[in-house]
Amino acid sequence: MLYHVKPVAKLIAELNKLPGIGPKSAQRLAFHLLSVSTEEARALAEAILEAKEKVRYCSVCGDLTEQDPCNICQNETRDGTIICVVEHPRDVIALEKTREFKGLYHVLHGVISPMDGIGPEQLRIKELLARLQNSPVQEVVIATNPNVEGEATAMYLAKLLAPLGVKVTRIAHGLPVGGELEYADELTLTKAFLGRREM
Ligand SMILES: [Zn+2]
Repeated sequence: MLYHVKPVAKLIAELNKLPGIGPKSAQRLAFHLLSVSTEEARALAEAILEAKEKVRYCSVCGDLTEQDPCNICQNETRDGTIICVVEHPRDVIALEKTREFKGLYHVLHGVISPMDGIGPEQLRIKELLARLQNSPVQEVVIATNPNVEGEATAMYLAKLLAPLGVKVTRIAHGLPVGGELEYADELTLTKAFLGRREM
């Protein structure tokens, strides 16, 4: 980085903070951005700022939205008796693509991970419990990722929800162990969803 002029070094450093972008990719992207027109660069910068300003989390489900509650929570044709619990907003998109699930979602914004210092209280679990109070929900499908943290979180939730009298199910393991929902193809994800089992 020592060899770059200051603004370039700064741009590379910022890009390097993005997930999956190492120093080499950051440099490649920076050089690309410097080669495009000012309009193009401005469009990217403005898209980032606009998304940051206009997009927030739905106060009901925790998904990303422009209006609160989000489109899915507001949609009366969706089945309000079933809630699918996922880790991230990107998982909602993956499941919506399958067109299999017609219920509502609840986004945890992470998983229980003692190694990273993330406990249940840092996730949107309180909000889930509050949502289940006096609600028509009959089934909670836990669709956390099939890895160690995802399984531990699913077990924790199953225990926590058991006394509430709702059916708690877990999506099937057609998903590769250690894999992530967002990378699963739609057919695999559909099968995993249809094959969910009671916990
Ligand atoms: Zn919502």
